[in-house]
Amino acid sequence: MTIRTRFAPSPTGLLHIGGARTALFNFLFSRHHGGEFLLRIEDTDRQRSTEAAVQAILDGLAWLDLAPDAPPVFQSTRVARHVEVAQAMLESGHAYRCYATAEELRRMREAAVAEGRSPRYDGSWRDRDPAEAPAGIAPAIRLKTPEAGDTVVQDLVQGEVRVANAELDDMIILRSDGTPTYLHAVVVDDHDMAISHVIRGDDHLTNTFRQVQIFRAMGWELPAFAHLPMIHGADGAKLSKRHGAVSVLEFRDEGFLPEALCNYLLRLGWGHGDAEIIDRDAAIALFDIDAVGRAASRMDFAKLTHLNGVYLRQADDDRLTRETLDRLRAMPGLNLDDTAAGRIRSLMPGLKERAKTLVELANSAAFLARERPLPFDAKAASLLTPMARSLLAELSPVLAATDFSAPAVDQALRRYAETSGHKLGALAQPLRAALTGSTTSPGIDVTLAALGREEALARIAAAVDR
Ligand code: GLU
Repeated sequence: MTIRTRFAPSPTGLLHIGGARTALFNFLFSRHHGGEFLLRIEDTDRQRSTEAAVQAILDGLAWLDLAPDAPPVFQSTRVARHVEVAQAMLESGHAYRCYATAEELRRMREAAVAEGRSPRYDGSWRDRDPAEAPAGIAPAIRLKTPEAGDTVVQDLVQGEVRVANAELDDMIILRSDGTPTYLHAVVVDDHDMAISHVIRGDDHLTNTFRQVQIFRAMGWELPAFAHLPMIHGADGAKLSKRHGAVSVLEFRDEGFLPEALCNYLLRLGWGHGDAEIIDRDAAIALFDIDAVGRAASRMDFAKLTHLNGVYLRQADDDRLTRETLDRLRAMPGLNLDDTAAGRIRSLMPGLKERAKTLVELANSAAFLARERPLPFDAKAASLLTPMARSLLAELSPVLAATDFSAPAVDQALRRYAETSGHKLGALAQPLRAALTGSTTSPGIDVTLAALGREEALARIAAAVDR
């Protein structure tokens, strides 16, 4: 059997982190088994679907490197096919026309609620002679669902789940205005796209019982189902805005690397021993549905941030320089010319050691692109005492005499510390303040080297004159 999975988001909002995990699991499962991963945009709700949301889904998936293997299928383009299948069920006797009016349906619901039953359609048109159809009323088409027995689903994550058929009423597959219902469209599309495994959030589990009945009515082979537990916030409540970022593009903007986010999402609900760092290739090699847990998982932003730091330290310096420059472009007061880009690239190995996100990385690199006079933060300003400034004045010619490679600068500073009787740290602190306007930076030797002789000496001179 060819393994074929799909991610089927409704473009009614942002690509949520839970959706991203669903996409990831579908992607990994199909890759692991040498199959295909498809994307279906479920845009049949024309009122709530937006172009912008479609774009956010495509952008989010591209950013996560979860591009589908074929162009996306837009559900709204398949309405004629959904109608055709509903007609086929009508002809085969698996569905029937229902002429109940909105008013009758309302009364049915009220009566059911009054008697303490769940509100449901009473099946009154199921066996009624169509000759009794009232004039001028467009019928809806309902599926004739079995009345006895259970509908059983062998879910790959949840195990065997079942519902008594008596609980399920005859659902509408085609509304009286001729539009297909969502439950019906999904089944027709999954069948036509030859989906072998439906992997989705467990909020769809109850839909599955109904969808199974449509598959059966059409005599179509069932796909396998795997319903993934939800992602909750740290407090166990459904993940929402108040817990932090929830949309994939927000995580991007907050400075997370896509591969770190994917690694984090992979470990959310799936495990491989104690392994924390599992890159894409390892994930494809290792992932399978049977190790997905049944319990809801909790989003832990601190853990994600830690993991992001690990990935950041491993990331390519040219790439991180590009990312940093992109972010710095949005900051005022910087001069992002080639010189600044060169400085950032040269200091990147040191900068990335200290950052957990790209936002932190950009903030820590900004001093390299500042024009003089540098702004000083309060701590740095307080370090530049008269004594510290006279020390900097003495140091300046010493530095001017070195060739400004990191080892040469380091040697010059050490030698000066020895001969002058200062501790190295006592030199580095005011130097750092003078060069960066702050009290944190990579090693002072590499920082000096990255700024270069001319700029470093000019910054020191400006600090001396403060
Ligand atoms: N369109 C549905 C959603 O966004 C998913 C349907 C499915 O995966 O079957 O929740």
